[in-house]
Amino acid sequence: LASKTFKPEPSIIDVGGVKIGGKEIVVMAGPCAVESREQIMAAAQAVKKAGAQFLRGGAFKPRTSPYSFQGLEEEGLKLLKEAKEATGLLIITEVTSERAIEIADSYVDMFQVGARNVQNFQLLREIGRSKKPVLLKRGPSTTIDEWLNAAEYIMSEGNYNVVLCERGIRTFETATRNTLDISAVPVVKSLSHLPIIVDPSHAAGKAQYILPLSKAAIAAGADGLIVEVHPNPKCALSDAAQQLPPEDFCELCKDISKIAEIL
Ligand code: PEP
Ligand code: MN
Repeated sequence: LASKTFKPEPSIIDVGGVKIGGKEIVVMAGPCAVESREQIMAAAQAVKKAGAQFLRGGAFKPRTSPYSFQGLEEEGLKLLKEAKEATGLLIITEVTSERAIEIADSYVDMFQVGARNVQNFQLLREIGRSKKPVLLKRGPSTTIDEWLNAAEYIMSEGNYNVVLCERGIRTFETATRNTLDISAVPVVKSLSHLPIIVDPSHAAGKAQYILPLSKAAIAAGADGLIVEVHPNPKCALSDAAQQLPPEDFCELCKDISKIAEIL
């Protein structure tokens, strides 16, 4: 179902009127995690002003350590909905379990499957049974074939609203958190009709590399970006090193629209 042989023409996924996979570059941005009303409102206003169409923010956080901040759960989802009402931004959030899917369903416009859950086949099937659009991240160690099979799990249950997201893979390189596999963009385009966006934040792990990686992603043909933006990155409760302050995100949006124009 995900392959180009099944469907040769590119799919356009409509989320609340925003089309992913069409001519326009779609930008999703916001903090790694929802931390407070003040933080998510400031982030929402800033990313809206810069031109993003989606606000991202984790409420169920899959942290490496069980002792790290795990997210505000339903309280976080309520705050995301408030931010939507205040700005008109669409909302995307990660779901990590069947329970999270049930809770998040009425608050958000798009589910995110995180890198760690790309081969959680039970979760993928559950998401397939919901009709909500889903952003499926590539795992740090999944091949493109395994990743497309993960999409197949969702689609085989009847949910065709799948958008892929390259977010860096694990390699021997330690200068960045992961290695952004820019090749995944043209490779996925050659194998699948599904749209693909790039997450430079989790790929790089360092704010200073987000701009060049974003430009490379758009130049390579990505349909959009998902970028971590925090009103005060130094104080972030998760992924502090990679979150952009609003001013830098604004510059990023200007630069990528220049690139998109010449493509
Ligand atoms: C995230 O988007 O905050 C996240 C946890 O990303 P990933 O699943 O790509 O690590
Ligand atoms: Mn993060």
